[in-house]
Amino acid sequence: MSPLLEAVNLVKHFQVKGDVPFLSKTVHAVDGISFSIEPDRSLGIVGESGSGKTTIARCLVRLYKPTAGDVCLEGKSISTRAGIRQLRKRVQMVFQDPGGSLNPKFSAERIIRESLLHLRVAKRREMRSMAVELLRQVGIQPSDSKKLPHQFSGGQQQRIAVARALAPRPDVLILDEPTSALDLSLQAQIIGMLVALRKDLGLTYALITHDLAVVRQLCDQLLVMYLGKPVESGPAPLILSGPQHPYSKALIGSVLRPDPETRDLEAPLHGEIPSPTAPPSGCRFHPRCPECMPICSVEEPIPWQVGEATIWCHLFSDGHGTGGDE
Ligand code: SF4
Repeated sequence: MSPLLEAVNLVKHFQVKGDVPFLSKTVHAVDGISFSIEPDRSLGIVGESGSGKTTIARCLVRLYKPTAGDVCLEGKSISTRAGIRQLRKRVQMVFQDPGGSLNPKFSAERIIRESLLHLRVAKRREMRSMAVELLRQVGIQPSDSKKLPHQFSGGQQQRIAVARALAPRPDVLILDEPTSALDLSLQAQIIGMLVALRKDLGLTYALITHDLAVVRQLCDQLLVMYLGKPVESGPAPLILSGPQHPYSKALIGSVLRPDPETRDLEAPLHGEIPSPTAPPSGCRFHPRCPECMPICSVEEPIPWQVGEATIWCHLFSDGHGTGGDE
């Protein structure tokens, strides 16, 4: 049986203005990423800013057209007209900045109604009650449904954004940094709501996040990315408790320090992430890797199966792993 949602060797490049007039540069935002998400499961995608996570999320909902590769829903490409129609109904995205993604002139109820209308998933006479019910489901009281977005807190705005995404009764939610704009107590509430919705509605999640608490509580599988490439993937609890790739170790190891305040998955690595317009040769992580070997700057690592994890690193090509599967 095909996975519910699948990225197949996804590539997304952008052309940007170069330093030399009339010459553009290519931004290698995503460079050959594959993963699949089974029904009712949840995949977390983590990495520093600039790793390509948000670009993947946008390709998954066709806000960006991939440069190469494909996204499939139950084995069928979403690049066709029929595929896009299915995608709109079955896969919804919740954006990073809830305030900015809600129309400031519409009440919470109207925001949901507009979504129902646009997606043609309800009869007009039913829309008002459906909108109020969706809001109630995410913890917004019916008495507040006529308020405008600015009259809600950041956490409540995120709840409204989630209610809007739930309007077409999707199977999959793509959540782009769902808690990053919120303070710690509101983050916990939103995570709690997402855990409950997933259980109650049988939702499948793809989560782009910097937040270890989100990964711990919501993700079954984890994909660690660096500069548009995968570096490690596998069961989330396994990678969180024992990351093996040098980048995952730096990224995840740091947030497992005893200081509970430090739970942000921004890597505490030395040096800046290189420009995606000129990614390093060989392993893209080699200029910052504490375990770099001569081969690393020359040859791109292939994936190695190490137990339940897949690791893209030459350290595992000398017998530590069980062999590449490329
Ligand atoms: Fe480090 Fe080499 Fe592994 Fe890349 S391939 S992570 S540079 S050891």
